[in-house]
Amino acid sequence: MKKIYPNVQARDVLEVFCFEQFSGEYFDRIQKPILRISFSYNQSLPKGGYHMLEGCIGCHKCYEVCPQKCIDINQKPVKTIHEYCLHCAKCKEICPKQVIVKI
Ligand code: SF4
Ligand code: SF4
Repeated sequence: MKKIYPNVQARDVLEVFCFEQFSGEYFDRIQKPILRISFSYNQSLPKGGYHMLEGCIGCHKCYEVCPQKCIDINQKPVKTIHEYCLHCAKCKEICPKQVIVKI
């Protein structure tokens, strides 16, 4: 510290700290669709996300309203591609069978 901040007064405004654990999310808004990456240190990754359960009729209404088009509609039930999901819940709101849940 002395080397970097030889001025004692300037050094006083600094507070040295270290993280013991943390978690967060990173969004790359330049990418289309926007990329979402979860990260953590010394604790489990944040959980959560939208999942489609049995009972899906494959109507693709969820895909139509999804701003990220991050729902794989090549299977039934359709499936969220989680690294792009923004958790906006538009898919859940429109699903006629109410088979989309947030876990
Ligand atoms: S809106 Fe609901 S029923 Fe339709 S494809 Fe999506 S999850 Fe399946
Ligand atoms: S929560 Fe939003 S972004 Fe995620 S799958 Fe549903 S509509 Fe798409």
